[in-house]
Amino acid sequence: MKTVFCPDCLADRKVRYIRKSETFIVRDEAMEIESNVAKCNTCGNEVFDMEADASNLRAAYDKYRVRHGLLTSKQIEAIRKKYGLSLPTKNLPGNFTLNRYGSYGQPVGCFHILRLALLI
Ligand SMILES: [Zn+2]
Repeated sequence: MKTVFCPDCLADRKVRYIRKSETFIVRDEAMEIESNVAKCNTCGNEVFDMEADASNLRAAYDKYRVRHGLLTSKQIEAIRKKYGLSLPTKNLPGNFTLNRYGSYGQPVGCFHILRLALLI
């Protein structure tokens, strides 16, 4: 079981995860998703968990991507793996890096995706 710092208990506490409907604003659009939220096992309050938060953001970004016909983070990751492109080290011409297009990046417009497609 995972341990996270609880600001109410002022101590590291074991947490459990619940599903909760949350709305994230992505490029001025509201994206409602079912988030994973950590709750302190001792006091029952919600606590911040960076991994869960990153996963929730990724889900919101992916919902935006699907809505706008963009590649999802999993599709981008599959393309990177197929062509052996790793995120941190691949700087491409024209100040174009793959970092922005990774699993955690905000969705980008079709121009950037087209540019990515032309490079690989
Ligand atoms: Zn607590």
